Amino acid sequence: MIEMSMNFKRKLPIPKEIKEQYPLNAEMEKVKKARAEEIKAVFTGESDKFILIIGPCSADHKDPVLEYISRLRLVEDKVKDKIIIVPRIYTNKPRTTGEGYKGMLHQPDPETAPDMLKGIVSIRDLHLSALRDYGFTCADEMLYPENHRYLSDLLAYVAVGARSAENQQHRLTGSGIEEPVGMKNPTSGDLSVMMNSIKAGQASHTFLYRGWEVTSSGNPLTHAILRGYVDFAGKNVSNYHYEDLVTLNELYAKTSLVNPSVIVDTNHANSGKQYLEQIRIAKEVIHSRNHNDDIKCLVKGLMIESYIEDGACKAEEHIFGKSITDPCLGWEKTQKLIFDIADKL
Ligand code: PEP
Ligand code: MN
Repeated sequence: MIEMSMNFKRKLPIPKEIKEQYPLNAEMEKVKKARAEEIKAVFTGESDKFILIIGPCSADHKDPVLEYISRLRLVEDKVKDKIIIVPRIYTNKPRTTGEGYKGMLHQPDPETAPDMLKGIVSIRDLHLSALRDYGFTCADEMLYPENHRYLSDLLAYVAVGARSAENQQHRLTGSGIEEPVGMKNPTSGDLSVMMNSIKAGQASHTFLYRGWEVTSSGNPLTHAILRGYVDFAGKNVSNYHYEDLVTLNELYAKTSLVNPSVIVDTNHANSGKQYLEQIRIAKEVIHSRNHNDDIKCLVKGLMIESYIEDGACKAEEHIFGKSITDPCLGWEKTQKLIFDIADKL
């Protein structure tokens, strides 16, 4: 018989302890609150600013991520009358087969062995630096709902990934989050899964969370993210076209959901990971918005995978600012795209 086991190696600090050890100062709290209000107003329709959730597929090292974010700061200052930039700092990565780099939470250095304590401290440190040094609260994926509170006082935006949006614990946890939570369409493309996820996220629930009985308020800022899907033959199928957006608007109209909204992910199955296509896709979505006021109200922004260098490489290649997971748009093209988007809004 094969013996199965789980080695409980050490007890880790709870989120409250980590937050006390690595707190926000008063100025950071002020910026966090102001940005939260600005972003919320977009999802409730009070503001017509456009949101760009933009940055590398995975935050692999502190230095290149902060270098990238420092560049975004200069760009946001030029487009801020129209665009709110929310950098992606994605610190935990879902893997299709469970193999490969699982993100900074597991491996603060992608080439050394996993160390979860160092991981928790390093992801908090990175999000803290983005806020303290560049005035950005950022987006992260909620891959492990029980870990959310290690960063909950820092995040501007929470995404629930394509492989998680059907999961009850993600949905219930999302219903207790104050920030906008984007529910991605599943990898199979079934939009009813995403709509059900939004419904669950907008409702109040009582459930078990990290050893507590909790009751959530329901999150009225829970909304859709379209990321394309994979068909029965494994072929990528996009869902960012005008007709897809009209379909989503009709789906929303059949529900009693509040704040109907979508963020369009320009990479993943929408681009078939042909990362340069993100430029064309972004422009097509803006064109669809400009063509139809209902679509303009619905589409609150884009999610773009972008970093300093074009494309992707292996971690062992050590290329500063080049993605080690999904291929990203490099800096020059990113900057141009943001200015082009601002012109077309
Ligand atoms: C991502 O945003 O990098 C990601 C993994 O997305 P998805 O869940 O859509 O695959
Ligand atoms: Mn990705």
